[in-house]
Amino acid sequence: MIFSRLKCFICSILFIIPALSHAMDERQVSVSLSYDDGLQSQLDNAIPALDHYGFKASFYILPTSKTVSGPEVEKWRNAAAEGHELGNHTLFHECSVSKGRTWVKPYANLDNKTVEEMVAEVRVANTFLYLIDGQKRRRSLTLPCGDSQTSNGNYAQAVAKKLSTYIYGRTFKKEHVAYLAPSGMSAKKIIRYIENSYQNKHVKIIILKFHGVGGDYLSTSKKDHDKILTYLNENRERFKVDTYYNIMQRFFN
Ligand SMILES: [Zn+2]
Repeated sequence: MIFSRLKCFICSILFIIPALSHAMDERQVSVSLSYDDGLQSQLDNAIPALDHYGFKASFYILPTSKTVSGPEVEKWRNAAAEGHELGNHTLFHECSVSKGRTWVKPYANLDNKTVEEMVAEVRVANTFLYLIDGQKRRRSLTLPCGDSQTSNGNYAQAVAKKLSTYIYGRTFKKEHVAYLAPSGMSAKKIIRYIENSYQNKHVKIIILKFHGVGGDYLSTSKKDHDKILTYLNENRERFKVDTYYNIMQRFFN
C-alpha cells in the first residue's frame, strides 16, 4: 500500500517537473499592434477583428483624417471607451522633404518647422484627442515617417520631455525592439518575423505598425490580418498584446 502510494507520488512528480520547467522556459514578450493615420478600413476591419479577440491596440489618428470630420468620429470614441488607445500623430503629419519625400505638402514639411512649433502642434493634437476620448493623461506619439529633425533640432526629445509623451518604438533601446511595418505582406511572413523576434532574447517588445487593413493604402489584407490575430490569440502565454501606452506604463511605472 505504502509502496503503491509512493509510486503514485513519484509518477506525479515526474509529470509535474517537465511541465513546470517548460512553463518557466516560456518568456512573455509584449506585442504592440498599431494603426496609423485614422483610416476608414481600420474602423471597418481592424477594430472588429481586434475586438473579437479582446486585443487592445493603438490608433494614431490625425485631426486631418477623413474619419474624424463626420459621424464616424463616434466609432473612435467607442474604440477608446473599449480600451483602445488614441495616439498622437501630430497635426499635419509632418515629414522631411529633404529625405526624398517629395509628396509632402509645403505646409507639412518638417524641414521648415522648429522644435517649438512641433511641441505646440503635438500639444494641440493632444487636446484634439482629449476632446474625442476624454483621457487627460500622457499619450504615445508616432512620429510621421519616423522623422524628427526640424530646422533647429530634434523635436521628439523635446516632446518626450515637455509633454511626457512616449515616442512610439523609441522608449526602449534599439536592441530591445523588433519593429515591422507590413505593407502587402503575407500573414506567413509576418508570423515568421514575430517568431524570429521572439527567439531573440534581447527583444522586449514586438511592434507591428499597420496602415490600411483590407483597404486604403500600405495595406495588409483582411484575411492576413485576421490570421495574425488568430496566431497571437493561440500563443497568449508567449505574447502579451496591449496598447503601447499600457505596455510602457508596465515597464516604466
Ligand atoms: Zn502616418
